[in-house]
Amino acid sequence: MTTLNLVVPCYNEEEVLAETSTRLLALLARLIEAGEVSEQSRITFVDDGSRDRTWSIIAALHAQNARCGGIKLSRNRGHQNALLAGLMTAQGDVLVSLDADLQDDIEAIPRMLEQYRLGAEIVFGVRHKRNTDTFFKRFTARNYYRLLKAFGVDILPGHADFRLMSRKTVEALRQFPEVNLFLRGIIPLLGFKSAIVEYERGARFAGESKYPLSKMLAFAFDGITSFSAVPLQWSTRIGALLAFGSLCFGAWAAFARLFTDLTVPGWASTVIPMYFLGGVQLLFLGVIGGYISKTYAETKQRPRFIIEQTL
Ligand code: UDP
Ligand code: MG
Repeated sequence: MTTLNLVVPCYNEEEVLAETSTRLLALLARLIEAGEVSEQSRITFVDDGSRDRTWSIIAALHAQNARCGGIKLSRNRGHQNALLAGLMTAQGDVLVSLDADLQDDIEAIPRMLEQYRLGAEIVFGVRHKRNTDTFFKRFTARNYYRLLKAFGVDILPGHADFRLMSRKTVEALRQFPEVNLFLRGIIPLLGFKSAIVEYERGARFAGESKYPLSKMLAFAFDGITSFSAVPLQWSTRIGALLAFGSLCFGAWAAFARLFTDLTVPGWASTVIPMYFLGGVQLLFLGVIGGYISKTYAETKQRPRFIIEQTL
């Protein structure tokens, strides 16, 4: 019989853990009762270096119920790394990753298991409405997915990190050593038979988002530069276009000087292109720098997470 393990990254989630664990344990009990998953099924909470009581709550849950396990990372490494730590360590035939705030509808999990039984090795949870997210979040997310598509990144719109992975695919994921993690871009690269389960995304029931705008932007930049070299090609194209443009401009200036009485082009036509070109150059230096810094991080091969304690 299938052994299920629910992997839940937690960063400062003291407000939600009691409720989350109750609901997840109830779900597990129901699934075990129905004979859909084995008695050995577990929940693995990954404490991503929280500063609040998260770890002591996880330890207490573990003491109360053997079905609750925990991994404590030595410091905060961000959602993606915490999730990876969980996936790389959790036992079981099938791992389902979900957020601690249960914004992902856990009733989708039985449906995911059904797809697994039908042969899917990866099941993507896709939200089909985002009514509970702010307009800003929905708007930026939608356009970001479009941008990724345009950059040739294979990504499933509306899918975050709520997914089921079979043991086989988790082992395949182990072979991706990248330090700049953007899991939802890597998983489709694994291949394997996959399926989609739709669900409605609820609101965070307590606490506040652990993803401030700055983290969101860094994550967004990561997503593009980890999978697409299109911005680099742009710099070549725009550079070539501007160079060609200025050549034409120069030719016109020479022509005007030699064969017409037109006044010599003055201040504006000299200074504006200078600032403009300076701006474009800096912009693309930044883009190139972004890629170099990633290469730098990758070559150092530093560990993506360090586990301090396991329960
Ligand atoms: N999270 C984490 N490390 C971090 C930030 C967030 O493990 O540095 C976890 C968090 O505890 C939650 C999940 O990632 O389980 C998603 O975070 P959140 O709900 O705050 O993001 P949002 O839903 O607002 O995008
Ligand atoms: Mg959330």
